[in-house]
Amino acid sequence: MTYDQNNIFSRILRDEIPCNKVYENEYALAFHDIAPHAPVHILVIPKGAYESIIDFSAHASSDEVSGFWKAVSHVADQQGITKDGCRILSNVGANGGQEVPHFHVHLLGGVFLGPILFKKL
Ligand code: 5GP
Repeated sequence: MTYDQNNIFSRILRDEIPCNKVYENEYALAFHDIAPHAPVHILVIPKGAYESIIDFSAHASSDEVSGFWKAVSHVADQQGITKDGCRILSNVGANGGQEVPHFHVHLLGGVFLGPILFKKL
């Protein structure tokens, strides 16, 4: 699949659409999810054009990978969700329910989230 330059997160990176930014470094941008599922619901995205965590892991440089995951840790600490725990997840593709085809991780916390969500077979 070819990366879609017009996806919403790509447009946020180009400043065409605003976001509620909480952190940025050379390789990543973090902002509040527009439709939060928990008291803390932040999205962290790489600045490079990668459509999923699979694409990112396979093709990003070591500096990009390091810079991205350092940002995830920084934001978790910044948001105060490290001590009590949180959920960090990334949806991939159609079966994973990925709506926006630019790699992102969801940081969810601030409340007990219960068991990981599985669709019942
Ligand atoms: P996915 O389903 O792809 O894993 O998650 C996409 C997430 O992006 C959803 O939680 C959705 O609420 C969020 N989202 C979609 N459009 C926007 C937007 O324009 N701004 C922000 N901040 N979040 C968005």
